Amino acid sequence: MVRFFLIFLFLFSTLSFANTKDLIITQKGDIFTDFNVEMYEDKSAAQSFAEIKKSKFTPHSNRISTGYSESIFWFRFTLVNNSDQDLIYFAEFTENFAHKVHGFISEKKLFNFSEDKQGVAYLALENSDELLKPKFQINIKSGESKTVYLNIFGLYANFTSFNIIDTPTLNLYELKHTGFYSVYFGAILAILIYNLAIYAFIRETAYLYYTVYVASFLIWQLGVNGFFPFDRFSSSFSYYLNGLSVPIGLSFLMCFARTILETKTRLPKLDRIIKAIASLYFLLALTAIFFTHYSFIVISFITTFSMPFLLYTGFKSYRDGNGSALIFLIAQAAFLSMSTLFALMTEGYLEYRLMTKHGLIAAFLVEIFIFSLAIAYRIRMHEQEKLKIINQANKELDKKVKERTLELELSQVKLKELASKDPLTDLFNRRFLYEISNELILIAKRDKTPISVIIFDIDNFKKINDTFGHTIGDDVIVEFAKLLKQTRESDIAARFGGEEFLLILPNTSETGALEIANQVRKEAENLSIRTLTDSLSFTVSGGVSSVLIAADTGIELTIHRADQALYQAKRSGKNKIQSFTSY
Ligand code: GH3
Ligand code: MG
Ligand code: MG
Repeated sequence: MVRFFLIFLFLFSTLSFANTKDLIITQKGDIFTDFNVEMYEDKSAAQSFAEIKKSKFTPHSNRISTGYSESIFWFRFTLVNNSDQDLIYFAEFTENFAHKVHGFISEKKLFNFSEDKQGVAYLALENSDELLKPKFQINIKSGESKTVYLNIFGLYANFTSFNIIDTPTLNLYELKHTGFYSVYFGAILAILIYNLAIYAFIRETAYLYYTVYVASFLIWQLGVNGFFPFDRFSSSFSYYLNGLSVPIGLSFLMCFARTILETKTRLPKLDRIIKAIASLYFLLALTAIFFTHYSFIVISFITTFSMPFLLYTGFKSYRDGNGSALIFLIAQAAFLSMSTLFALMTEGYLEYRLMTKHGLIAAFLVEIFIFSLAIAYRIRMHEQEKLKIINQANKELDKKVKERTLELELSQVKLKELASKDPLTDLFNRRFLYEISNELILIAKRDKTPISVIIFDIDNFKKINDTFGHTIGDDVIVEFAKLLKQTRESDIAARFGGEEFLLILPNTSETGALEIANQVRKEAENLSIRTLTDSLSFTVSGGVSSVLIAADTGIELTIHRADQALYQAKRSGKNKIQSFTSY
């Protein structure tokens, strides 16, 4: 596809300069910016002018893009003044960084050529204080024809064109040129300072890499467009120094990409490659001081691969979930489309045109603007991530606190239960019984429901102890306690003393309580406790009393009455239940 496109371009451009005609001025003010000349490439770069004049020239446009070459390129054209005035014209180059540009001008038939030398190589010699565009004056009288030979030799790639213009047009052109670049460079400078200020405040490294990248590009473009104050260096060495800005800028672009694309953590393998490319560019910046020409061939070559590689890495980072990588990709794509045109032009594949030359700087403006958005977006993402982590941590802490509180509460309940229970039987103890029973009586009074109390006492327990020992005595207590636990859930069983037990029965009348007491008594009678040699059975006696709601009796009085009933039960022969009101 690309090849097809290039062939098409080649055919198209061949057609456009198929025939070469003299440049004819018909009236004052005629100018020539897009015309055909003749071209000859001196590959030896050593031929004399006499030899050149005899060489075979081929048609070419006035637009020069010969790529990186050690040849000297010659261009020839004839200017004819058909106006009625004597005029002063200039052959002026549109770019200012050609190393050596020579102009030979003569009347067509006389061949007494005058030679003028311009270009970076002569900057120091000429004692010039700024890098001007090579410009050759052509004095042409009415009716006169002049033949012009221009040759160009570049250390960088050759790309420029030359226009044939008169003084007023030249001035206007200069003014437009300066105005356009002032606005353009002003915008870049503003973005640069703005982002540098952000870096000063928030110390995000991405901003630093970014500003060095932008500054390098700015220096490079200011230099090649004649804005850079070369006089400060007072030698053409500044030209080489200006050249360093390209590899240094590219090196920092790589560093910037590493940060934005988060390759270190997301794509460690690609990260190593990017790091290597960044170092290589930096190294090439150093070698460019001594071997400018060769270093730039290498820089151009590497960039052909490093830029698509950045796109690939950006894509990978985006696929890995990095949102700012998408913004980076958009910026890179915008810049790459234009810089590819520019690269193809510098390599000599595309003609030197407004689009191929200035598309680059327009795209750069777009790129650095979107890049700064990418950094901001990245910072926002990080803030959100931080917030998410903090929230998560908070939630976890909350959960833990809740868990701990619950544990604490549970252990407190346990503690309270422990404190309120008798360790041998696991029934409530006397203290707890008093605590709870008064509340139960209150509820009963409010609901106007009866509430009863039973006291049990194991018969002849002393004798059991004496006969079988305390351990067996304990077993009897434990077994009887189990019986009490089997009563209704709302009933509260407590160990009241040694072998005395208390059962509180909410919502139960005295008759109901009597029934339950007798049931327990009978069950106890049927229990059989294993002893060392045999087994034993035992009996219990019980006293029942009900809370008299109308009489406003409390728990103490009720228990006392039940105890009195129990005493009656013992007196009447044990293994009996007696109620307080029935004796
Ligand atoms: P009564 O039928 O009149 O109740 O006769 P009793 O022998 O049960 O009389 P008393 O209430 O005087 O005896 C209770 C005995 O229970 C006294 C004490 O040594 C014994 N005792 C109290 N607490 C425990 C205990 O936790 N374990 C054991 N094994 N014996 C206990
Ligand atoms: Mg007793
Ligand atoms: Mg007893």
